[in-house]
Amino acid sequence: MKKRLWLLSVLLTVVGWHSSFGWENGNDEHRNKKFTVVLDAGHGGHDPGKVANGVKEKDIALDLVLLVGKELEKHPDIKVVYTRKTDKFVNLYVRGKIANEAEADLFVSIHCNAHHSNAYGSETYVLGLHANRQNFEVAKAENEVIYLEENHEANYAGYDINSPESIIGLTIMQEEFLGQSIRLAKLLQENFSVKLKRKNRGVKQAGFIVLHQTFMPSVLIETGFITNKNEKNYLSSKKGKTEVSDNIAEAIIRYKKDLAVNTAIDNFQDVSNEGETAAAAGVTFKVQIAAGGNKIETKRYNFRGLEPISMEQEGSVYRYLYGNTTEYEEAKSLQRQAKAKGYKSAYIVAYRNGQRISVEEALRL
Ligand SMILES: [Zn+2]
Repeated sequence: MKKRLWLLSVLLTVVGWHSSFGWENGNDEHRNKKFTVVLDAGHGGHDPGKVANGVKEKDIALDLVLLVGKELEKHPDIKVVYTRKTDKFVNLYVRGKIANEAEADLFVSIHCNAHHSNAYGSETYVLGLHANRQNFEVAKAENEVIYLEENHEANYAGYDINSPESIIGLTIMQEEFLGQSIRLAKLLQENFSVKLKRKNRGVKQAGFIVLHQTFMPSVLIETGFITNKNEKNYLSSKKGKTEVSDNIAEAIIRYKKDLAVNTAIDNFQDVSNEGETAAAAGVTFKVQIAAGGNKIETKRYNFRGLEPISMEQEGSVYRYLYGNTTEYEEAKSLQRQAKAKGYKSAYIVAYRNGQRISVEEALRL
């Protein structure tokens, strides 16, 4: 055990060097892949976004995105992909498609807010149920752009932006990334409030269509209110744009570093278990693919064709699990299948006589 701890500490020390080779992605096929960040400037072209006090949201969003990108591109181990680099219109689903095709590690959408009151401050959203009317209104305003798109009836079938319930069936796609999305959102809000001393309106959840389209941790930043004169002046100024973009870039870099450390721990546990088998009676393995507050039918069409799917409830959280086997090796193969289907953070869980135990304990038994 001591030796393991020592090994782990060595591993954590060297992970900083390895992260420059994309090691944080863990699995072999991604070992040489750079950490890819998709930067999404909200609106563009014939969609100006919010317009107030003589400025347009689409212009501020683009300026910020280009500055964030410039900052991130200084890091040779980060690849930046833009959904737009000019003043052009891009459909919401196309933004998601760009991110998915790039197999991005992060999707960051940048916007500005507007309100009839004198509201100010920044807030960062992850996909989820609208917790209240106010969050719903923010998402609705950002979602309205679909009506400027051609063929929106076909591309967003059944989605009614006026209905808070419309998002419920959609949230599961992002739930497996929710933890990571929230982690980045917190780092961003922390930078805005602690380093820039701006009003922290918090990390929030709402049903943004653009976030629903992506299969990776994704956030949407409402950097500030252009309806508020002070914030409009700040976000239009060179100083304001530089400060905000620097802090967005810094949060992304910190997120990437944290991720590298966490993956090192996961990989270490994986390696240390190699070669052992769980033959003991009563021990079974499953692969957890998603968890969240929504109860979803365990049908294969809800889980990208995977079956059997089982569900466990703990308090208000539902966990969704794929497969059921007594062999650890087979569980690893199930995990690979789940990852191939897009459940990138799928992980193995173990049970003894129906009770959850750690995988390490299961393998000891
Ligand atoms: Zn917007």
